[in-house]
Amino acid sequence: MRVAPGVYSIGQKKGGRVHAYLFDHGGELTLVDTLFDTDARPVLDCIRRIGRSPGDLKHIAMTHAHRSHLGGLARLRQLSGALVHAHEWEADIIAGERAAQPVSLRPDGPVSTYPFRIGLALGRPKHVRCPVDRSVSEGDEVGPLRVLHIPGHTPGHLAFHYEPRDVLAVGDAVATWPRTDAGWPGFNLNEGEYRVSLRRLAQVEAAVIAVGHGEPLTERAADRVHELAEGLPG
Ligand SMILES: [Zn+2]
Ligand SMILES: [Zn+2]
Repeated sequence: MRVAPGVYSIGQKKGGRVHAYLFDHGGELTLVDTLFDTDARPVLDCIRRIGRSPGDLKHIAMTHAHRSHLGGLARLRQLSGALVHAHEWEADIIAGERAAQPVSLRPDGPVSTYPFRIGLALGRPKHVRCPVDRSVSEGDEVGPLRVLHIPGHTPGHLAFHYEPRDVLAVGDAVATWPRTDAGWPGFNLNEGEYRVSLRRLAQVEAAVIAVGHGEPLTERAADRVHELAEGLPG
């Protein structure tokens, strides 16, 4: 699905309606996250559909190291030779040297998100380990994207702003599936940091909020993030 000129949303049902975003900047492709399936099929199909080839993929930017977003990473890096960028706190999880930190198993929030809590607690299913080529953080650039460090959901969570079309990819800081919400309730490792991060994202006033689970927000996107940030306790 085309979100803006040169910006494509790629979703799949598995992984909690997980979404990745492809940016075509003058023929050079940059991908944010890699969906659930290890064969990366939906991403490769999208690249072909827009008339590009896997070799045009130059950068893969990871919002964070949760299984739903890591699936196709190893295959895409191998097929394209793209550089993988992530925050250093997430990099050793992506490389398979450390397990992701589990979240509380306390039952709150939508029932459809419970299986992902249990998956985190058990470390299942495992992803195909993949080295990270470059550690990035606040103010860095990944291809045409500017990096924001927005800890809370995980310590090394990143957002990526494509300023030419004012699209902000926010990973799991905002979700639109199973409902539009300030992420998935109960999934933030640090609620205080998360609150600060969500307010920062609202202040970007982006035209499109590209979320990790569910369809991107394209109408009143900035207003809706402000509303979510104001609705948080504390
Ligand atoms: Zn996550
Ligand atoms: Zn997620």
